[in-house]
Amino acid sequence: MKKDAKIRLFVEQALGQGQSVPLSREAAHYLFGVMRLKEGAKVKLFNGKDGEWQADVVEAGKRGGVLTCLEQSAPQQSPPDLWLMFAPIKKARTDFIVEKAAEMGAARICPMQSDFTNSERIRQDRLQAHAIEAAEQCGGTYVPPVDGLMPLAKRLDTWPEDRLLLFCDESLSGRASDPGVLATLKDQPWAILIGPEGGFSDAERKRLAGMENAVPVSLGPRILRADTAAVAAMTFWQLHLGDWR
Ligand code: SAH
Repeated sequence: MKKDAKIRLFVEQALGQGQSVPLSREAAHYLFGVMRLKEGAKVKLFNGKDGEWQADVVEAGKRGGVLTCLEQSAPQQSPPDLWLMFAPIKKARTDFIVEKAAEMGAARICPMQSDFTNSERIRQDRLQAHAIEAAEQCGGTYVPPVDGLMPLAKRLDTWPEDRLLLFCDESLSGRASDPGVLATLKDQPWAILIGPEGGFSDAERKRLAGMENAVPVSLGPRILRADTAAVAAMTFWQLHLGDWR
């Protein structure tokens, strides 16, 4: 067997040298039932705060088990302070957005309900599980929290003063992005705002136009689907302001 652990697992417990980590039933099922690991096997653990730890399986059971942390294999790396705000669309596409947001390094995922949002409900626990899975497979040590669904207007009512809002406005598509926009982008907390399939209503556009913190941008000459737009906007942001620099 290879010495280096391939399997990465998110756990809730604290991690540290010699720390013993009891497994939940689901984690034990995954490691010992699905992946067929035995005692002595190595696993990489992270909890979103303590970095990544190489751990040994010391007890492997059907309904539980215990791992012991040996050494830290990567330091904690949290993403820049970027929220992704989007309107849930069809289930599979919403899952995609959450998965990609975790991979692309969103610090927080904020599903929002706007005037033309198709979906009234989300399964927050399911979406959170997708974010965890994405972090496990992309080598990240951070899992963005997924908020409950909140009306856009309510979010904007209590908008934090220091947070800028990259307002992806489909009505600007086809127009070149204002070159001045880039110059206004600064190192500070940000959020990306992506609308639903139906786009933004006139009332929402008016409200956003009156917000000092909102920076309207075009994502190019074509109208992108919301899931594509979310990934494109995060790419744009990470490249110019985030951790791709
Ligand atoms: N039904 C709308 C399109 C909505 S696309 C229409 O035909 O006009 C879904 C969301 O993706 C939009 O609300 C916007 O936030 C983003 N988006 C898609 N293409 C874009 C573009 N070229 N520029 C800026 N935002 C875009």
